[in-house]
Amino acid sequence: MEAETIGVLRDRQGRVRGLRYRQGGEEHRLRAVASIAADGRHSGLRGEIGTGLRTLGSPIDVLWFRLDRREDEPTELRGTIGRGGGLVAINRGDYWQVAFLVRKGTDEEIEATGLPAFRERVASVAAWTADRLDQLRTWDDVKLLSVTVERLRQWAVPGLLAIGDAAHTMSPLGGVGVNLAISDAVAAANLLAPDLLRAQADPDRFEKVLNPAILDRVQQRRQWPTMLTQRIQVLGQNRVIAFTETPPGRSLLPPAPALALLRGPIARMLPRVFVYGIRPERVAG
Ligand SMILES: Cc1cc2nc3c(=O)[nH]c(=O)nc-3n(C[C@H](O)[C@H](O)[C@H](O)COP(=O)(O)OP(=O)(O)OC[C@H]3O[C@@H](n4cnc5c(N)ncnc54)[C@H](O)[C@@H]3O)c2cc1C
Repeated sequence: MEAETIGVLRDRQGRVRGLRYRQGGEEHRLRAVASIAADGRHSGLRGEIGTGLRTLGSPIDVLWFRLDRREDEPTELRGTIGRGGGLVAINRGDYWQVAFLVRKGTDEEIEATGLPAFRERVASVAAWTADRLDQLRTWDDVKLLSVTVERLRQWAVPGLLAIGDAAHTMSPLGGVGVNLAISDAVAAANLLAPDLLRAQADPDRFEKVLNPAILDRVQQRRQWPTMLTQRIQVLGQNRVIAFTETPPGRSLLPPAPALALLRGPIARMLPRVFVYGIRPERVAG
């Protein structure tokens, strides 16, 4: 706890054999046969895997702020898409954590047009926010969260495996990033547990019994659900941003065939993707 990983330890063959970390202002070393990089979208350990990132592109960024929540208001997640942006409000008890979706790279332009114009834009998308947008007093109340969708070409090298956002950065669309990160962790645990249990009595044996191919097997198992989910997120993001930029006078609704698809097969498929996840993982007994 309260420790920051600052690098890896390698043996003579270049295999990762543990981590260097800083805790209480001091540097320490932790030797390990296998290390898991679960350090998120700005992972410093990715560089140690060094196989390059595949970037899928993301046309959206999120402007993140809080607005007061009254007790008599709905408790569930609130979401609206309109001309000018998309708004998702998460119930955090006495406040709403609001994510306002805008086109990537437009934050400076939005700031330059001023806070009153931004408040108007938010209110035009979600009218219920209008009576409290004066709570955004300065731009310090609005944080930019840059959205990226990318993944490592290779998730593991001998002794080091990346999982979760460190292996594949997810968009907030659909709220699936946490599911995927946990699924990776469960898959890794299921694959590593038998060797760990065999070496339980003598931890030094782990090095002898651990099959080095197991770290790669986590990627083999989790790569296609990740790729498919990211592809769906990218398609969804493109659709959302196109919707928010519909010129005045043009219908906000998609053409009838697309609408039928959205209400039919796609509506049936989305809970599978976003609620249960593609290829859900279960902890092996
Ligand atoms: C704006 C936004 C909103 C989102 N909303 C949702 C949502 O509603 N639902 C959802 O499912 N997903 C959401 N996502 C995606 C989700 O946040 C990620 O996919 C998920 O958190 C990934 O989990 P993780 O454990 O891999 O990484 P993280 O949750 O990022 O955890 C990484 C951890 O590693 C720690 N760490 C980093 N570097 C070091 C270091 N050097 N040493 C030690 N520790 C370190 C960090 O402090 C952090 O605790 C959102 C993403 C964005 C950008």
